Amino acid sequence: MIFADLHSHSTASDGVDPPARVVERAAAVGLKAMSLTDHDSVAGVEEAIQAGRRLGVEVIPGAEMTCNHEKYEIHMLAYGVDHRSAEFQLFCEQAQRDRIGRAEEMSRRLAELGVPVDMKAVMASADGGSVGRPHVARALLDAGHVATFEEAFDKYLGNGKPAYFARPSVPPAEVIALIHRAGGIAVLAHPIIGDQLCLLPMLKKAGLDGVEVWHSHHTAEETERILVEALNLGLVKTGGSDCHGALSGREASLGTVGLDEPRYRKFRASLERWRDTLAET
Ligand code: AMP
Ligand code: FE
Ligand code: FE
Ligand code: ZN
Repeated sequence: MIFADLHSHSTASDGVDPPARVVERAAAVGLKAMSLTDHDSVAGVEEAIQAGRRLGVEVIPGAEMTCNHEKYEIHMLAYGVDHRSAEFQLFCEQAQRDRIGRAEEMSRRLAELGVPVDMKAVMASADGGSVGRPHVARALLDAGHVATFEEAFDKYLGNGKPAYFARPSVPPAEVIALIHRAGGIAVLAHPIIGDQLCLLPMLKKAGLDGVEVWHSHHTAEETERILVEALNLGLVKTGGSDCHGALSGREASLGTVGLDEPRYRKFRASLERWRDTLAET
């Protein structure tokens, strides 16, 4: 029985539903707690918290921050951050600007490849939220250049594909420290995607607090492997569906992956312990 789904996206980044609607869906599937973890953004968090109060769902402030180490693009989940922190918001705003520049570069490359997309449509579909590859993929789909989302990533947008363009890189230690200063804990997202389990010891040295053990892309065997690593390194264990909503190209629905109640209580206690540590220093 899933009690808490700690990984979800809204229109504040590349999700389909507005923040309040994501929380409504969470309530409808019986979740008691959730976290909205938009890419490089906390813009939807306040709306989600308000909706959670109305609907009896505990909303943990969250974000999924992008950082880089060598060839790896790392997604770092931030849980329990003060979403009103000026420093955290400024960092997110810079990431938004970098994302716009990157989308423009990807659109230039797509034009060169003979599959032009309308940048105005890309920006319109992001609608003021974190613009990302899914928005570009949607434009490719709308223009009839590809038949599916997967094809857009396989042919053009996936890491290392011809229209892929990386953002200015930020080291994980910097993002972890930023999350800590904003009162949150840093958790490595979906370590199987991009084969990142090997990075855990290095990230732990850089201050990592936890790892996402349960995720819609992890098989039972992979989940077991991550669990062993989490125990070895003494990391907080989290889980979530990474739901982006219907029609997003990523199908996992809200509440299908996450933490049961005892595991959620442990996670919640780790957050509290971290806050106590901060208060003492
Ligand atoms: P970005 O943040 O712009 O680098 O885009 C990454 C996002 O693209 C991920 O969070 C997913 O939502 C989406 N994504 C990545 N790979 C795929 C894929 N193969 N198929 C569909 N969506 C994908
Ligand atoms: Fe995404
Ligand atoms: Fe991710
Ligand atoms: Zn995600």
